[in-house]
Amino acid sequence: NSLIVSFGEMLIDFVPTESGVSLAEASGFLKAPAGAPANVAICVSKLGGKSAFVGKLGDDEFGHMLKDILIKNGVRSDGVVFDQGARTALAFITLLPDGDREFMFYRNPSADMLLTESELNLELIRKAKIFHYGSISLITEPCRSAHLRAMEVAKEAGAILSYDPNLRLPLWSSPEEAREQIMSIWEHANVIKVSDNEFEFLTGHKTIDDETAISLMHSGLKLLLITLGCHGCKYYTKHFHGTVEGFKVKPVDTTGAGDAFVGALLCKIVEDESIFEDEERLKKVVKFANACGAITTTKRGAIPALPNEEEVLKLLNGA
Ligand code: ATP
Repeated sequence: NSLIVSFGEMLIDFVPTESGVSLAEASGFLKAPAGAPANVAICVSKLGGKSAFVGKLGDDEFGHMLKDILIKNGVRSDGVVFDQGARTALAFITLLPDGDREFMFYRNPSADMLLTESELNLELIRKAKIFHYGSISLITEPCRSAHLRAMEVAKEAGAILSYDPNLRLPLWSSPEEAREQIMSIWEHANVIKVSDNEFEFLTGHKTIDDETAISLMHSGLKLLLITLGCHGCKYYTKHFHGTVEGFKVKPVDTTGAGDAFVGALLCKIVEDESIFEDEERLKKVVKFANACGAITTTKRGAIPALPNEEEVLKLLNGA
């Protein structure tokens, strides 16, 4: 069994055609399929792995377009359901002059927030070797209960639980609420990936010190990863910790780099769980994931930029 099931939101980002302008000033927007859990599922499939996406879309043109994108990219879509009333979520992006992004979401409520426990494809979830999720699906009911139930079912069936909080502060009622809810499921995960910004938000520490990182470990957590943008990634297991440097590339758009990193990592974990105990193997896997993240920054958009294995190997081999 090597199925990776990714749970959560899939939506459409409207990306302005020029950077450094406000939403009001933007002369046009390009639609870009988005949603971190969906990106991870597509990344896995592009790298040759088996993946499925579980989530809810609006029964509208955008929702059907997104499901088709999953299918075209080889992702199982039998966990996707449609809401007859609510629309597919949209996000309008502002590209800031420093390369960062701001999000304005249209979710009032959107279909993804309305997934219920009874709509979960439990048979599919029970087949997962790895069950991956974020934190956006925790924000409101009924999706929150569906998320918790899906995690429970996957765990009972023996899946490795993988968690990337993917903090989106504007979606939460307050930063305190975001922190509390993100941490409320921390202890269930076996693999967690956070970015350096998320580490700072969750711990209050600006620099990533090993002591604080190690304090985030818990008995069931086999691997904690803290991604550092162009600087690569720090890894922590019960037995060892260290850093794997990133690759030097010319970034055009960093959207989806973290999801590409996670997709690559999960593909390798499914193949070989010994990386949790074998530091040399883990470093190779993290290097592979860094390469996958780096390539994703060299093209616009998340999904169109996700590489196949050949492209990753090219970068790894210095070609
Ligand atoms: P996202 O934008 O998807 O939310 P993130 O903040 O979760 O991303 P990052 O730390 O930006 O995650 O990137 C994940 C990985 O991708 C990094 O660990 C690194 O290996 C690679 N990466 C990201 N940005 C760059 C870059 N500018 N140059 C080279 N590699 C990069």
